[in-house]
Amino acid sequence: MPNTESKTLVIRNGTLIDGSGAPAAENTAVVIQGNRITSVGELPGGINLEDTATVDVIDAAGQWIMPGLIDGHCHLSFGMPAVPGYASARGTINPGFSAVRAARNAQTILRSGVTSVSIPGGTWFIEVGLRDAISAGLIQGPRIYTAGRFIVTYGSIGDSEPSWVGTPEHTFGVLAINVSDMITEVRRQTKHGVDFIKLADSTWGDTQTIAKEEITAVVEEAHRRNARISIHSRGAGSTKAAAEAGVDWIMHADLATEAELYAVAEAGVRIMPTTTFLFEALEVGKEKGRSDEEMDIIKRNADSAVNVLQIARSLGVKVMCGTDTGNSPVMPYGLLHANEAEIMVKFGGYTPMEAITAYTKDNAYSVGLEGELGVIEAGKLADVLILDADPLEDIRVLQGGKHLTSIIKDGRRVDLQAQPEEELALALS
Ligand SMILES: [Zn+2]
Repeated sequence: MPNTESKTLVIRNGTLIDGSGAPAAENTAVVIQGNRITSVGELPGGINLEDTATVDVIDAAGQWIMPGLIDGHCHLSFGMPAVPGYASARGTINPGFSAVRAARNAQTILRSGVTSVSIPGGTWFIEVGLRDAISAGLIQGPRIYTAGRFIVTYGSIGDSEPSWVGTPEHTFGVLAINVSDMITEVRRQTKHGVDFIKLADSTWGDTQTIAKEEITAVVEEAHRRNARISIHSRGAGSTKAAAEAGVDWIMHADLATEAELYAVAEAGVRIMPTTTFLFEALEVGKEKGRSDEEMDIIKRNADSAVNVLQIARSLGVKVMCGTDTGNSPVMPYGLLHANEAEIMVKFGGYTPMEAITAYTKDNAYSVGLEGELGVIEAGKLADVLILDADPLEDIRVLQGGKHLTSIIKDGRRVDLQAQPEEELALALS
């Protein structure tokens, strides 16, 4: 929503990491008017820093300034984490409750420094409503770019109930048994305002559940309806098929080998490895109820995902950052949104600057705002973080919002007041 406040916001001093990949530099003044950055560098004439009625000044001396983080893979309405005392099997089955909790989760995410999220799938059309409520100014939250329920077929992730039960609205998959069903679902979801379509292959990538011809048909229909399309694809076959079919980006791709990644590079398709979930599941999966068999699969996929990161870098495949926060009780809100950067640096061979650029400038693509967002430059949308520690020195300072001293989203300062502890415990449980 355009910032209608008339005050000009000026960030003085500090070290600027502008998100473009350019080296960090001493900052003189970042000027924000409305929801845009209007100048970076010398303070333009006509701005009187003493005039507190029209100018708000943040002194960032000794601090670091960078674009707001973009988490390219979050889920807000899966019914997770479970709420104690509320009847739930795989999540809540009450759309009203789920919507309110999704709103709460969005606020938690924003306060951790994530100013935009791409949401590849939810229940009902909760994120579509939440996106519109945030942009109408009803509540504060990150900018949302969202898909609806995953389009799945028999054997895909999201088709976990027996066939005689199907896939009810409170689950994140909607069953399409043939191409015609898939196309109809694309039409239904675009009518209800999704930004992109989420197609989904098998859970862990062991089998390819959707044929290339089917992916192609869905891509064509989504694009015809001005929606983009992403796919949950871990397997090698589905990753190659998705790249050749022209999806806009591929999520996971973790079992792809160099040959399939070469096809991805040839097609110019981006990937979002989302290794944070795998690494976090290896840490806490056992205590959160994952079976030994599943833990073995997760280990296999995590090992392969590290190779994918390295090969993608060497082939020049554009890598975007997502965490899969909210996909299960393994992934609580507000804590893990910046962890993908640490994994890229530690295991993928990326520099901290490359990881930050992936999280900002490059991830703007995942929210449909490439060229508009993710770089601190005159004319861009004003999402800015100020940190009391240097993320280039230690990329982990981005994690959990612990080092944030200011968050600015769409030109407005976010209230950093901590949520009451009891409520936070509920949201994260
Ligand atoms: Zn996901």
